[in-house]
Amino acid sequence: RIAYVNGRYVAHADACVHIEDRGYQFADGVYEVCEVARGFIVDMPHHLARLDRSLRELSIDWPVTQRVLPLILREVVRRNHVANGLVYLQVTRGVASRDFVFPAAGTKPSLVVTARKADPAMASKRAENGIKVITVPENRWDRVDIKSVGLLPNVLAKQKAREAGAQEAWFVDADGTVKEGGSSNAWIITRNGVLVTRPAEHGILRGITRTTLFEVAAKLGLTIEERGFSVAEAKAAREAFISSATTIAMPIVAIDGVPVANGHPGSITLSLRQAFFDVAEKSPA
Ligand code: PMP
Repeated sequence: RIAYVNGRYVAHADACVHIEDRGYQFADGVYEVCEVARGFIVDMPHHLARLDRSLRELSIDWPVTQRVLPLILREVVRRNHVANGLVYLQVTRGVASRDFVFPAAGTKPSLVVTARKADPAMASKRAENGIKVITVPENRWDRVDIKSVGLLPNVLAKQKAREAGAQEAWFVDADGTVKEGGSSNAWIITRNGVLVTRPAEHGILRGITRTTLFEVAAKLGLTIEERGFSVAEAKAAREAFISSATTIAMPIVAIDGVPVANGHPGSITLSLRQAFFDVAEKSPA
């Protein structure tokens, strides 16, 4: 495997950044994950637009020009022979002697890009079975709209899910409203077949897959309500699912051990999943 690190394509096993990289010391950086499917990078321009926003919010400079980054992503995908899988990119504020305040102007941000194969048959099988989620109290900071590499609450929540035999953890506000998953957005479908997902203006990451699914839903003639929903409403819903670049729309069959509907993946979720690739933007890798 090959990785890109600050201008060089290197063996994945030897790829490294300095111990005083601010990503390592302060989680002072941001990232993106793009799905690679059938030789295309999915929704890449949208991921790069969100990267731009994350960088701006943290006053981190672009490590390379906005024109060059897609070429690097493509090259890493190509060099790793990834037709299906994902490409990961991470930008940190760079290497500087440890100090909380920003380093001197001119410190170069670090850019790392990796790519990994995934088996689409495995993902399909997962969707056929559905996944289980647990709920955990929201304990993250209030800037989760920034796709920061500071993910410790997400790590702990997803580990708790794993230990409970589940695959995702939903962060829940003190008032019982579901925010999002540890690495995904949260959706339910009401008895009337209406899709419900929380507004992305505040308190969650505006998922790229979430945005594309709005288009997919419109194409399928489905109605979306952007509003908060409670854990209780989710447990009583007709369907529930998560969305993210790597899971697309993934049916949920149980929430905190309570089966959703008959405990099988919902048909509307599966049709969204089916139609996703036709609607998503496909950049040749
Ligand atoms: N919320 C969180 C906290 C995430 O980490 C992710 C995935 N990176 C998402 C939502 C989904 O975003 P996307 O559809 O862009 O992958």
